[in-house]
Amino acid sequence: MSESSTVGGSSRTSDPSTDSGSRGGRGAGDQAIGDPVPVDAGAGGAADTFEGTAAARALDGESAPPRGGPAVRTRAAELVAAHRERLFPWVRPYYEEPVVLAGGAGVRVRDVAGVEYLDLFAGILTTSIGHCHPAVIEAVERQMRTLGHTSTLYVTEGQIDVARALADIAPGGLDSACFTNSGTEAVESAIAAARLFTGRHEIVALRHGYSGRSMLASQLTGHGGWRLPPGGVTGVVHARSPYPFRSPASGEDTDFFIDDLVEVIETTTGGKPAALFAETIQGVGGYIVPPPDYFRRAAEVIRGFGGLLIIDEVQTGFGRTGTRWFGIEHWGVEPDLMVMAKGIANGFPVGATLARAEIAEAWQGPSISTFGGNPVCMAAARATLGVMREHDVPRLAAARGARLRQGLERLRDRYPWIGEVRGMGLMQALELVGDRAGKVPDPARAAKLLEAARAEGILIGRGGLHGQVIRLGPSLLITEDEIDEGLRRLGAACESADR
Ligand code: PMP
Repeated sequence: MSESSTVGGSSRTSDPSTDSGSRGGRGAGDQAIGDPVPVDAGAGGAADTFEGTAAARALDGESAPPRGGPAVRTRAAELVAAHRERLFPWVRPYYEEPVVLAGGAGVRVRDVAGVEYLDLFAGILTTSIGHCHPAVIEAVERQMRTLGHTSTLYVTEGQIDVARALADIAPGGLDSACFTNSGTEAVESAIAAARLFTGRHEIVALRHGYSGRSMLASQLTGHGGWRLPPGGVTGVVHARSPYPFRSPASGEDTDFFIDDLVEVIETTTGGKPAALFAETIQGVGGYIVPPPDYFRRAAEVIRGFGGLLIIDEVQTGFGRTGTRWFGIEHWGVEPDLMVMAKGIANGFPVGATLARAEIAEAWQGPSISTFGGNPVCMAAARATLGVMREHDVPRLAAARGARLRQGLERLRDRYPWIGEVRGMGLMQALELVGDRAGKVPDPARAAKLLEAARAEGILIGRGGLHGQVIRLGPSLLITEDEIDEGLRRLGAACESADR
């Protein structure tokens, strides 16, 4: 990034949908003007350069305002004030002085004042192949000129293509799909399907999970701060999160978590749960990675009680965790239903629920989604999945993730307030603590680090029950150089947050 005349100051607290547990914000990212798109050299070269695209021109300043200066700063302040005045307070951005984004290309974004950022959070793990990817732009433009909307009342090729593409990469026989507009809706659809198939009602979710912002999804969520509004829906109980860092038992003691799961079912349900609902790595919870045998044993438990296993891959999907397309594949478990969103269409609103055909069959309707499977969104999903396959993003995420992880571990060795580095692939987090022995969550340091990172020109995210976790989740096409640049900038941010 050229000059980093930061607009911002410090942060609020945590972040939401995105991220943290209590009040949060959002992220974005960015890269240098006119730089080639962040395609990995080893990924076959790819012709994905942004040069000449509208996004590149915007980032190059053709249509962007002059950088910095009082006029653009005033403009940013006006927009922030108008945002606060016009939008519900829950639409709350990150940072004490929010970033007002105006353009993006690859792993770079730029704000209205012309300040560039390297985006290590990708709009909450969502611009999976980078901002304004030319393949997505082209597919969306072409589709919009052909047919922009249908509703689920009509058959379109795009919906079928994406359903087939997802079944091809998903584990097991998840051959039926339905499309909605968000992760929240995909979660709702999975729960509805499980209840209809089993004829049962009760759902076991996990503490520290995040499932979305509808009434049901917020009640599945296992963070008090996100379980709004108060009141709630019946039939959801919560078992212990397989969270080794904060387990009262010894770390990766799977028995402890499995015993709790059994006890929760035996003591707080009627013994006939419809499903266990779980993220493979709890994202908003702070990238909580379970012990390796947790899901195999949890699947045995829920199936032993006659229930289904619903796996939420909203954050972990599409190669994010490295070497595999989905998180659950790391542990050789085949779920009965799977939920996806975020990175599936590089930012277009698509939620997908996949199920075994016999489960889908149990839901005969009537039901409808006006925007579900929208042709433009399906074109974006198809293009995104095509680029992901072309570049073998699970392999890329493993390689780049390992490099990122090494750098983060070096930071942990330097700063005693980094309690743990954890995650898989390009989903890596730092849990911040008072000290390593006491492990007291340190959200204040996380807030400071978020702001310091912004001042250093990188966008990162927060998470964790107390907002004490720093989360990274860049485009899966991020290059080694960009990882190194991100680590350098994060190192400088840690230096300021240490003071
Ligand atoms: N599930 C998980 C694991 C998520 O992280 C999120 C969003 N952060 C959701 C569901 C809800 O997705 P959306 O915000 O698209 O409704």
